[in-house]
Amino acid sequence: MSGCGCGCGSGSGGPYSKGLELVEFVYNAHGGAVRDQKIMNGPLAVACQECGGSFALATYVGTCPACGGVHAVAPMFPTAENVQYAGKGYRLP
Ligand SMILES: [Zn+2]
Repeated sequence: MSGCGCGCGSGSGGPYSKGLELVEFVYNAHGGAVRDQKIMNGPLAVACQECGGSFALATYVGTCPACGGVHAVAPMFPTAENVQYAGKGYRLP
């Protein structure tokens, strides 16, 4: 499974990836045009997997305001259950 399902064929990984692979997939999707877009059905309530705090993920790639932990969600499945965490210490380029 690769590509984001829209036929653009960008990047590696895919919308079914987990963890860091999913974060990097969303970050790079459409040449980086997706990561800063607002989640279409509104911000998701996320429990940070790094510090345990909760925050609202408003864009497809976002960071916890408390600890900077990087989280992302696939644009076609934007639900809190599908939010993936990049891993401890990972920071966006
Ligand atoms: Zn956090």
